[in-house]
Amino acid sequence: MLHLLKARLRHGYQAIPDPLTVGIDPAFPGLPELAIDADLELLSELCPTKAFTAQGLDLGRCVFCGLCSRKHPEMITFTPNYKMAADSREKLILAPGQIALPKMDFVLPRKFRYSFALRSVSAAGCNACEMELGASNNVNFDISRYGVETVASPRHADALILTGPISRNMADALNETWQAIPEPKYLILCGACAISGGLFGESEAIDRAFLKHWEACLYIPGCPAHPLSIVSAMVSIMRGS
Ligand code: SF4
Ligand code: SF4
Repeated sequence: MLHLLKARLRHGYQAIPDPLTVGIDPAFPGLPELAIDADLELLSELCPTKAFTAQGLDLGRCVFCGLCSRKHPEMITFTPNYKMAADSREKLILAPGQIALPKMDFVLPRKFRYSFALRSVSAAGCNACEMELGASNNVNFDISRYGVETVASPRHADALILTGPISRNMADALNETWQAIPEPKYLILCGACAISGGLFGESEAIDRAFLKHWEACLYIPGCPAHPLSIVSAMVSIMRGS
């Protein structure tokens, strides 16, 4: 018993005191900043996922490879801002000169303010988004302090959090899991693959028909999405902050 207490004292308090305001390593590639005069056509030619549109950079397609900023640092840089979720697909388009994503308008009903259960479905993800989702539950990020938990059965879930581009092999399983979640239910897309198909969007092995029928309430970009992005986004829709 004594050795357990000593180990506990040695470990100290390991959770990040406030994951909503903590600073992060400056090298972390978070929310990008596009120069006001960025040549979007030139950048688009470089981008493996064609994330640049005439309006700006689609964060739902960006896989944060950094190629554009290494080639043209005068046009685009990545800041360590991990708060980059949105409540609509349109809000993920970052215009030249824009330094933050628009505030989210979507807020869950009040009964979910302190308790929100997620059923995670990995629909052909590479396991990195899944690992970061798992990490958001670890002692460090500790998303459960806000009442968010991952449950095994869709019957116990309030929301489905999807990772991966949705392979044809996973399309039925995803739909069945969604149908098993009782109303009211919410859909959350985590990572570039889930939001846009990412690097696999054009593959014949992908079947994204599910997303034509159901609309997500929360989009969390990244490849993979960082646990701090996940935690801050979840708290935002639960508490409206
Ligand atoms: S960092 Fe994003 S926008 Fe830039 S080249 Fe890679 S995928 Fe494209
Ligand atoms: S978004 Fe990136 S990290 Fe996440 S599942 Fe797809 S390839 Fe993997």
